[in-house]
Amino acid sequence: MPKKAKSTTNPKLAKRIKTAKPVKKPVKSVKLPVRPTLDGKAEKPFPPHHEIEDQIIVNYHYSMGGQSPFFIALKNEKKLMGTKCQKCGTVYMPPRINCARCYQPTEWVEVKDTATIKVSTLVWYSTSAFIASVPYAIGYLQLDGATTAMLQGIFSDNLVPSKIKSGKRVRAVFKKVREGKVTDFFFVPEDEYAEWIKKPEFEGGA
Ligand SMILES: [Zn+2]
Repeated sequence: MPKKAKSTTNPKLAKRIKTAKPVKKPVKSVKLPVRPTLDGKAEKPFPPHHEIEDQIIVNYHYSMGGQSPFFIALKNEKKLMGTKCQKCGTVYMPPRINCARCYQPTEWVEVKDTATIKVSTLVWYSTSAFIASVPYAIGYLQLDGATTAMLQGIFSDNLVPSKIKSGKRVRAVFKKVREGKVTDFFFVPEDEYAEWIKKPEFEGGA
């Protein structure tokens, strides 16, 4: 028996489903362009195609697979878990299940919530998830204890390019309500950390 899909527990998604509006422009006819074929001859024109506007909302479960321990530790313990190759000692953050250098399986290790910016940029265009935060920064950050760097958001109450320069220090801030997603945490300049964790929706790490 296939499992019956549960209704969503995601409040944002539930709101979208509830407020989904019926389509206003229901029908139109589209005349498709004539495209040349590979042998250079004109393709036989298609008859006009009839199109209707519609909407699909899909609930689905996305498995984090072998990287699940990272998301579980993030959600439940505010810990940032990387993986370490037992052969060459490379510490991967974001975690990798196998070492990309010597193909050995890795083991889970905790890394620090402090990091150094390796490279960064300001973000002016974003998906709907972050549009309210524009402008913000993203950067490749090397967490203390890790060999590799991870891409993560850098937020600041006074965002100026000098704050996100390569070599600057940042620290992770966690959402109080965590879902086990990579957006459960972000980084702030080290000198803003104390202020950020005082905000009601955020807190410091473990
Ligand atoms: Zn290795």
